[in-house]
Amino acid sequence: RAKNLGGGRVEVFAAKMHADVMRRLELGSDLQRALTEQQFAVEFQPVVELATSRVTGVEALVRWWRDGVSVPPEEFIGTAEESGLMVPLGNWVLREACAQVARWRENGWEIGLSINLRPREIAAAHFVDSVAAALADSGLPPGALTLEVKEEVLVDGSDELIERLSALRDLGVRLAIDDFGTGYASLAFLRQLPVDVIKIDPSFVSGLGRDETLTLLTRTIARVGRDLGLTVVAEGVERPEQLELLREMGCPRGQGYLVSRPMAPSGIEALVQLNPRGEASIPLHGSVISA
Ligand code: C2E
Ligand code: MG
Ligand code: MG
Ligand code: MG
Repeated sequence: RAKNLGGGRVEVFAAKMHADVMRRLELGSDLQRALTEQQFAVEFQPVVELATSRVTGVEALVRWWRDGVSVPPEEFIGTAEESGLMVPLGNWVLREACAQVARWRENGWEIGLSINLRPREIAAAHFVDSVAAALADSGLPPGALTLEVKEEVLVDGSDELIERLSALRDLGVRLAIDDFGTGYASLAFLRQLPVDVIKIDPSFVSGLGRDETLTLLTRTIARVGRDLGLTVVAEGVERPEQLELLREMGCPRGQGYLVSRPMAPSGIEALVQLNPRGEASIPLHGSVISA
């Protein structure tokens, strides 16, 4: 009896695994089609200087418009990596985003662009050349581009990965550690990395004013970042109280729903108005814009 039951469980398990594999295969072929049929889009989320609310740059975030519904990256990037599509998809995002931000800059808007990278993309053959080509073809100056890599990727990273990042930095682009605080990089390690920016993970920022430890940790990261000469960006700023605390801590930059959700280029254009110096600000005292 027990054996039967156990066998039944194995069958249920096998059936579930089969369903999982089928779902992934299907997702993989859907993704392939999505790439050829251009179902992907890039949205941009503003990053602001907290003291002045000036927009310093935008982060490119990929969206998959599948049957009229926007699928978040977390639901397909893993599959894109497994099915070999991450490199062509990432290259498309890079070229598309560089072209858009270069157009904004041609219209007099002095902003930067951030792009997210998975380890697969960084390791791809000719990746440094692809970045150089995207810059040259769009006319975006290298110094206007920041490449974001998650802290855990850097901590687990091979010497080859770090060398690649150094080669990218030699192009004149900036490097950012994304989701900082979650990957347990030591401060000694941080000093050795070829990085310019750290982005404090939302899991710290969310606790501002609500959790003493998280508030203290956020303050510490902001201070250490500054002491190391890095630009610090707080991610996931949703409440005015977080903004006030970050300003008081001297955290220079922020990003989050309080400032703006990620938007299509037309949405960004509707949001910002350039002053004669080629700057745009986003008023920061409202509450969270609902979805
Ligand atoms: P990330 O780089 O840490 O991007 C920030 C994520 O937080 C984005 O989610 C953004 O929409 C979301 N976010 C921004 N402000 C707030 C806020 O105030 N509250 C909350 N709850 N969320 C906020 P998204 O667009 O779903 O992207 C998730 C992750 O997927 C990104 O995390 C990034 O690691 C990855 N990703 C997105 N686009 C690309 C891409 O083109 N290439 C690569 N390689 N990865 C990408
Ligand atoms: Mg990012
Ligand atoms: Mg992040
Ligand atoms: Mg994240």
